[in-house]
Amino acid sequence: MQQAPSFQVIEGQLIGARQVPSPNYNQRPEHTEIQLVVVHNISLPPSQFGGGYIEQFFQNQLDWSKHPYFQTIEGMQVSTHLLILRTGEVLQCVNFNDRAWHAGRSSYLAKKECNDYSIGIELEGSDDQPFEDVQYSVLAEVIATLQATYPKILQHLAGHSDIAPGRKTDPGPFFDWPKTRALIQQYKAD
Ligand SMILES: [Zn+2]
Repeated sequence: MQQAPSFQVIEGQLIGARQVPSPNYNQRPEHTEIQLVVVHNISLPPSQFGGGYIEQFFQNQLDWSKHPYFQTIEGMQVSTHLLILRTGEVLQCVNFNDRAWHAGRSSYLAKKECNDYSIGIELEGSDDQPFEDVQYSVLAEVIATLQATYPKILQHLAGHSDIAPGRKTDPGPFFDWPKTRALIQQYKAD
């Protein structure tokens, strides 16, 4: 395999990720075990990449006047645990021990409120364009690391569209689940 950055989780922090703290989080309910990873896509403006707007959005620092689309999301306070940019760089916005606001109204295997017990990973991307290879390899390595740290998530990997059907479409038709699962297995075998 190609040489990739190595990640490690220490006290809910992903070592190897750039820390970009978001104020949009709260506590997970008491005695909640992390047991699900939710994969998303996001781009700001939609289908445009780069510019740093996504991290500004998660930090409540986006200048809403910069683009007409931004006015449609003005004032929204959301977050994710991790954001994987097109370059493969990983940003951490919320500590894994805390509850990020990525899923919204949702349920997984009949269990509601996925934010309570999941880790959210946003890929910089859209429903109408393929993701970058480096995003897949970094995503797989991160998920393999998370599975080693939080064993309950082993079998539980979902898309936002799986936990909020009819309401959300991401990570979208271009997201390659078989490729992702195969890469995760490779990282675990290494
Ligand atoms: Zn989403």
